[in-house]
Amino acid sequence: MKLEDIGEFGLIGRIRTLFTQPSPKAPIGIGDDAAALFLSSAAVLLATTDMLIEGVHFDLATTDLYSLGWKSAAVNLSDIAAMGGVPRYCLVGLGLPRRTTMEQVRELYRGLHALLRKHAVLLVGGDTCRSGRGLVISVVMLGEARKRSITARSGARSGDLVFTTGTLGDAAAGFELLAAGGRARKRGARKLVERHLRPEPRVEWGGKLAASGCVSAMIDVSDGLASDLGHICEESRVGAEVHEGLLPLSRALVSTQGLKQAPLAYALSGGEDYELLFTVPPRKAAALRRLNIPFTEIGTIIRRRSLLLVDHAGRRRRLTAAGYDHFGKRDRLQGRRR
Ligand code: ADP
Ligand code: MG
Repeated sequence: MKLEDIGEFGLIGRIRTLFTQPSPKAPIGIGDDAAALFLSSAAVLLATTDMLIEGVHFDLATTDLYSLGWKSAAVNLSDIAAMGGVPRYCLVGLGLPRRTTMEQVRELYRGLHALLRKHAVLLVGGDTCRSGRGLVISVVMLGEARKRSITARSGARSGDLVFTTGTLGDAAAGFELLAAGGRARKRGARKLVERHLRPEPRVEWGGKLAASGCVSAMIDVSDGLASDLGHICEESRVGAEVHEGLLPLSRALVSTQGLKQAPLAYALSGGEDYELLFTVPPRKAAALRRLNIPFTEIGTIIRRRSLLLVDHAGRRRRLTAAGYDHFGKRDRLQGRRR
């Protein structure tokens, strides 16, 4: 059996069923943004790890080392945010080709440290190895949460409303501009590129949303709306309807000329926005709206286990999860089939 036949999530599903078992001390393990590990009757340790690999996640021709360091912290902080936790400690594993210079490592750590400092996260360890190929950065992020306010992927129920913070599709459009080469001159285009290179993890919003008690399920948008809403639906055993006219698009995305696809396509399938996607029972929507967070209602959870996109005329079509799959046929950096 080849990995390209079962895909990244097929592989993770097999690892999950073959080698792990649910435990009352680790009620949330594989299958969520971070594992939730019980330390005492109320305190929970959140643990997550994400890796960035040269040639797969980034290309040094289009990314500076500072941004790379920033992003490697951001993607992990975002997973703690999605659980409604507070990030506390971080460990950094590096695989470095021999050609790497001290200046490059310093820039990487400057970027990483800038974002860690912003969120008061301490860098407490890691590992350093030579890499035979490209640069590899593997970050472990540890956070803290209260048992009662953890926001797992599995809590969505039929009838819940679906919300996202911020705007969707910007980072994917920014990546396309970067990969096409040339400098992004217009302000809007620069903004899109910035969102790809230096995403802002929604840590404060995640904490506030969890503490409000309004949220039934939450995930961060790392693979794209369709794919990540699909994860909520799968873990919660439900489906969802998303209204295309409700998707929040930035002015930068709508106004930038020369993009290959329509703004909606980036919003549905583009990844790496690191916004928070969450569900709320209707009776809690009024309390939610009193929180001072920029979010938009985009759809509803349904009993039927499928993902549907509703267009302006009310027609429904199946929304396919076109997010990135590491063993799929689409190459992340080139965007073409391999
Ligand atoms: P995210 O996009 O939020 O970082 P992933 O899609 O990377 O999440 O992973 C989905 C889930 O599978 C997570 O709970 C993660 O911890 C788990 N997971 C991923 N790879 C492995 C692996 N090789 N072994 C065990 N668990 C894994
Ligand atoms: Mg995540």
